[in-house]
Amino acid sequence: MEISTLKKNTEKTCIVCDQVKDDGIHLYTSFICKQCELAMIGTETDDPRYKYYLKRLKKVNTPEIYS
Ligand SMILES: [Zn+2]
Repeated sequence: MEISTLKKNTEKTCIVCDQVKDDGIHLYTSFICKQCELAMIGTETDDPRYKYYLKRLKKVNTPEIYS
C-alpha cells in the first residue's frame, strides 16, 4: 500500500478559498472547508460576497454525468 498515494487522496482543497483544509463538507465531488461553509451561512443574500460564493459553487451544481 502506498501511503503517499493515500495521503494525496485525502487531501481536500476548498473550492471557495482554494486552500487545503481537513475540516469541512463534501458537495458532490467538491469540498468546502468549515470556515467557508460558516461564512456562507452567515452571509446575507444581498451581500456582494454571496454572489462570489454562488459563483464558486456553480462548479459544484453541475456534477459530472457518467454514461
Ligand atoms: Zn474554504
